[in-house]
Amino acid sequence: MIQVSYNFFDNPALLEIVKTHLTPLLPLLPSWLDSVCVESFMSGDDQQAMDITLSIPYRRASIRVYPDFFDASPSMLHEMVLHEVAHTWTGPVTEWVRSRLLERFSGDHKETLRDEFEERVEAMTQSLAVTLAQFDISTIEGSAEA
Ligand SMILES: [Zn+2]
Repeated sequence: MIQVSYNFFDNPALLEIVKTHLTPLLPLLPSWLDSVCVESFMSGDDQQAMDITLSIPYRRASIRVYPDFFDASPSMLHEMVLHEVAHTWTGPVTEWVRSRLLERFSGDHKETLRDEFEERVEAMTQSLAVTLAQFDISTIEGSAEA
């Protein structure tokens, strides 16, 4: 069972919104993950709603939720959380490419390759999220425990 913790949520209503959207998706998380840490990041400087950092050797994901998240519609919230869940699937390969493959290049060529790679990773991840958003995850049967 994946351990989920929530940190720095000063507003219980905002914490509830995050839990409402993440909890039903927990059975979709891959087996390489042992724990997910969700943090409220209320700095407000970023123009993003969520992001995720994976620590594959420690089998951990850290999801940061920014103020823009709470301005989105319920369907957008669902899709944004699915996007971060999708990163847990694409992450092991993309992390390997970032740390091992791209390091073999240098200079402008490396920067161009990195930019193109990141663009494709986001497109692939979003495509997976949009595809998954078509399904009612709560009705999918299985033996996984969240
Ligand atoms: Zn992304």
